[in-house]
Parts: sequence; structure tokens; C-alpha cells
Amino acid sequence: MNTSNVDPAELVKFSELAHRWWDVNSEFRPLHQINPLRLEWISHLAPLHNKQVLDVGCGGGILADAMARAGAQVTGIDLATKSLKVAQLHALETQTPNIHYQEISAEALAAQSPAQFDVVTCMEMLEHVPDPASVVQACARLVKPGGWVFFSTLNRNPKSFLFAILGAEYVLNLLPKGTHEYAKFIRPSELAAYCRTAGLALQATKGLQYNPLTRRYWLDENTSVNYMIATQRTA
Ligand code: SAH
Repeated sequence: MNTSNVDPAELVKFSELAHRWWDVNSEFRPLHQINPLRLEWISHLAPLHNKQVLDVGCGGGILADAMARAGAQVTGIDLATKSLKVAQLHALETQTPNIHYQEISAEALAAQSPAQFDVVTCMEMLEHVPDPASVVQACARLVKPGGWVFFSTLNRNPKSFLFAILGAEYVLNLLPKGTHEYAKFIRPSELAAYCRTAGLALQATKGLQYNPLTRRYWLDENTSVNYMIATQRTA
């Protein structure tokens, strides 16, 4: 098993910004803006109330916190120490119920606690790791048979390069330069193949769109840039 599936430069990048996770006008604004959209999509497919939910690569806890507020028992994991501290502090300050955070990799937690979760989410994280297939495999081991696993990431094509890197980092300054690396983007077909290999059946796909003029996000069927997939563990 791969136990060192981490790029230290990625963790440094996120740790340096950690104090701004809950500033909705910071570099994390896009995550805050898409959060209600993804929460609704996830909870529509996989009801969260009283469910054991794991958020892999939780960062400052934007999604983890919202899922706990929706009634789930949430565990958030990440390898960036500072981000986890910020997540914990936020939960304490805002008295989020039923949430706990742990510094552990998905692979290590899968070895410790297989088949423990009803729902696993792993959003905007796979494009930051050296071996995304290993994370997908770990998520599949962590979820109970029949349970749901959600991923989101960036597609790899000329349009996603233009929008997610040139547009977001250089023209609109939505994200710091160097946030994303084109070569690490993942096509839906590649992600679907990782899932199949891991025993996760693809159930639904959604695209995320952004209009820079209105500064609004919405979901539709166009997966050409940012997209999410919903899968279920088959056995
Ligand atoms: N999932 C959150 C944060 C996305 S940002 C959200 O969508 O709101 C990407 C996160 O992945 C960062 O918090 C970063 O620290 C984390 N990350 C990067 N490599 C990781 C790894 N190997 N294991 C766990 N988390 C990782």
C-alpha cells in the first residue's frame, strides 16, 4: 500500500493560507461559493442525517462543517496541520455539533478503519496528490458496502487550462498563482477507471460553472472544467 502519497509542497501551499480558510473573500472564496451547491447535490443523492461521513482532504472544513450542520457525524482528515487546527478552532467557535478532525492520510485510515463510513467525500483534493488512484482506492475501502463516495476535481483539456489556470490564477486572480498544475488534472474517464478498479460504481456526474461577470457558480451537465462524480461501493 502507498503510505507516502503526499506532495509536501502542496501541504506548504495550503498551510501558508490556512488562517484565511474561513474568510469568504479570500483565496478560498470559490470553495465557499460552491459549497451550498455541492452540499445539496451530495445530500440529495445520499441523505446525511445521522450518517457517518468522512471528508478526505477537508482543509479548513468548509464542506465537513456544513455536512455536520446538516445532521451527519463527520470526521475530517487532511495532512496540513495548520488547516486542521483552523478547522478545529472554527468548529469550537461556532459550536458545530458532531465533528472531529484528524491528521491522517486516507490510505492509513483505510488500513485502520475499513468500511466505517456511510458516505465519503473527497473534493478538490485528487489534483493535489501524486497518486490519485491510491486515494480513490482508500476511499472505496473506507466506505461501507452500498455506501456513497463523492469526488470532485478538474478536467484536463485546453478549456480547463484556459479557465482553471489562466483565467482563475492569472486573469481573475480568484486563486493564487501555482494553485493548480495542469498535468495533475484528471479526465472524467480516468477518474471513472480508478473508481471501477476500486469497486465503486459510477452513479452520477455534474459539472460546475462560473460566470466571472456575475461572479456566480451553478451546476449543470458540462464537465469540461470542474466536475463532481457520485459513486457507490458495489460490495
Ligand atoms: N476538500 C476541501 C479542501 C480542498 S483544497 C474543500 O473542497 O473545501 C485541497 C486540500 O487537500 C487541502 O486542504 C490540502 O491540504 C489537502 N491535501 C493535499 N494533499 C493531501 C494528501 N496527500 N492527503 C490529505 N490531504 C491532502
